[in-house]
Order: sequence, then structure tokens, then C-alpha cells
Amino acid sequence: MTSDIAADCLFCKIVAGQVPADVVATSKRAIAFRDIAPQAPLHVLVAPKEHHGDVAQLAAVDPALLADVVALADQVAGEQADGQFRLIFNSGPRAGQSVFHVHGHVIGGARLGWTPA
Ligand code: 5GP
Repeated sequence: MTSDIAADCLFCKIVAGQVPADVVATSKRAIAFRDIAPQAPLHVLVAPKEHHGDVAQLAAVDPALLADVVALADQVAGEQADGQFRLIFNSGPRAGQSVFHVHGHVIGGARLGWTPA
């Protein structure tokens, strides 16, 4: 789904300031805020301000906006950690997606293991 704002979307409400969040950076079209349940010293979510369901949908309709989201992830990793990061887009419930407004998890601030299962 693609639209500026989707009803009952948690991250659209964060973008709109209707739900509080610890926003660490914004760009013209993207926002970065700390995950409420961090899994690493740096765990920030980067998302487009407008509503798109998942990363493949966003890439299909607006690849420049996906590039903006990735650039904001890189900026945040440089400002909040050592500039090195893992960027994870869960896509679909079986992959762990629970909020259906596309977002990347910016994970860093420590040497990372590799345990995706
Ligand atoms: P997903 O499971 O969709 O890949 O990621 C959703 C993420 O959003 C989870 O890591 C979860 O901890 C985070 N989250 C859920 N509710 C909130 C909230 O109200 N505020 C913030 N900042 N993060 C949230």
C-alpha cells in the first residue's frame, strides 16, 4: 500500500507527531527514531515519511525515496556510532515484520554476530 498517511499506522502517527518517539534525525522525506526495544547499542529505525508497506513495494514505486532512507541510515550510523552498521528490512510476518510501514533497522555500535534464524 502506498499513500501519504495510512489510517491506524503506528509509524505514520510517529511521523505526524501523534505518537511520541525519540527522533534522532530527519531528512526531507525520511525519519529516524530509536527502536522502543533496542537489540544493540545502536538500534534506530529509518522510514519514509509517506506510507509504503514494505521495502519491495517502496523500491518498485519510488527507488529514490528508498535511497533517501538508506542515506539517512548511513548518516545516523556516522552520528550515533562508528559509521558501520547493519541495515535490516523485515519483509512479511514470517520474516519478522510487525509494523507494515516500511522501515530499516539500523543496527550497530558493537561487533555484530550473525544469527538471523
Ligand atoms: P519489525 O518487527 O516490523 O521489523 O520492526 C518493528 C519495530 O518497531 C520493532 O523492533 C519494535 O520494537 C518497534 N516498535 C514497536 N512499537 C514501537 C513504538 O511505539 N515506538 C518505537 N520507537 N518503536 C516501536
